[in-house]
Amino acid sequence: MAILTVRTVTERLEAVIQKRRTRSFDRGIDLPEHKHYTADKPTATLPCPQTVVVPLNQHTGETVEPIVSVGDHVAAGQKIGDLEEKWSSPVHAGVSGVVTHIEPRPFGDGTAVPSVVIRADREQNVPELTPRGDWESLDRDRILAVIKDNGIVGMAGAGFPTHINLDVRTKIPTLIVNGAECEPFLTSDHRIMVERADAVIGGARIIARVIGADRCYIGIENNKPDAIEVLTEKTRDLPEFSVVPVAVKYPQGYKKTLLRAITGKEPPLGGRSADVGCIVRNVSTTAAIYDAVVLNKPLFERVVTVSGLHEIARPGNYRVPIGTPLRHILEHVGVDLEALGGYKVVRGGPMTGTAVDTLEAPVVKAATGILVMPPAAIQPAYERVNPCIRCSACVKHCPIGLYPNEISQLVEAGTPEAAERLHISECCECAICSYVCPAYRQVTDLVMEGKAILKERRRRNR
Ligand code: SF4
Ligand code: SF4
Repeated sequence: MAILTVRTVTERLEAVIQKRRTRSFDRGIDLPEHKHYTADKPTATLPCPQTVVVPLNQHTGETVEPIVSVGDHVAAGQKIGDLEEKWSSPVHAGVSGVVTHIEPRPFGDGTAVPSVVIRADREQNVPELTPRGDWESLDRDRILAVIKDNGIVGMAGAGFPTHINLDVRTKIPTLIVNGAECEPFLTSDHRIMVERADAVIGGARIIARVIGADRCYIGIENNKPDAIEVLTEKTRDLPEFSVVPVAVKYPQGYKKTLLRAITGKEPPLGGRSADVGCIVRNVSTTAAIYDAVVLNKPLFERVVTVSGLHEIARPGNYRVPIGTPLRHILEHVGVDLEALGGYKVVRGGPMTGTAVDTLEAPVVKAATGILVMPPAAIQPAYERVNPCIRCSACVKHCPIGLYPNEISQLVEAGTPEAAERLHISECCECAICSYVCPAYRQVTDLVMEGKAILKERRRRNR
């Protein structure tokens, strides 16, 4: 008995030491993973939707102009919206069919966004892709132009135009490909790494060429051993690549925490990862860059994880056209929409996604998942007025080391400018402060509100 006890204690100690040895970052939280519902589900397709609604702004930056008219027939992948403006990203038809409307349509967050509506012909005609075998002969500016022309934006939630991110003025020696996928339920990046490892590696080589990197790390959370194995095997003869397992912890996939976990470096306050010689790109975006530059394929479809805590007959990872209404997807994976009750449909992950206000909301380029979640997982807005009990849980877990309690109270008091001294703009919007708050305050919403007010004031004063 005594020996067993000693062994148990030793095993536990080893587990703790192992966890400490695994690369990670300070603070953050452990979340229930819920990835087993879909992690081993190969990417599948669904029947073509009858109609897609393609928003003309799916990125950070200017809304693009439609370049098609009502009545036009379009092919899947055809460019349908564009703008002669660096801070924009064109959009492409998700399906082949006829343009029926060009008008504002519900985005799912309470707003209406100018959109191109296409009635699908169900044949899903995609123009023949003409692979560009010679991408290595393209110069840096041409590669950036191809990335822009194919509408590539950050696909992990931010939607930042990739051609802007990669247009660096000086050589950036290190590229980190972000395969952490740290939010619960989501497994679309996981499947991309397992099923499209060559595209991930190829995309990483293209990025490295553009930014001048000579080291490439692929950071993957420990809970994806098959992805670690496949990518380790495929990069065995590529000395510039290293596959780095990182601890399962939220938000391991935020670029600055992953950067810290892998390199030990931290950008200065207000700085960017490029300030310490690194650029971090998500794996789905990296594969999309490969598709654009090598296969000449625009970003007109993506893989989303469909999962959650409601009965779903066929949870999984599905490749769907951009613009597909969420209703179409949920119906085809076996969700009884009449029996949703108070359950909410979230576009994105459970921590950073948005609970949509209509099932007509479309899949957008940055939508990682579609989750059906119980009401308890979604805090109602009135709870933001609860008083802070000064427990400091939000401070203890904030991955950036901020004081979310103080910041949120300054925003509530109508003085967000005072929160600048507390580095409000450094917030990565991970939602941990709301998640851990025992008073159910919507701390993250308040911090985001403060950031938005300050950003707008800065814009007006420019
Ligand atoms: S303040 Fe921002 S970074 Fe810190 S826990 Fe809250 S949401 Fe996350
Ligand atoms: S977790 Fe909530 S109650 Fe505790 S200090 Fe932060 S805001 Fe206040």
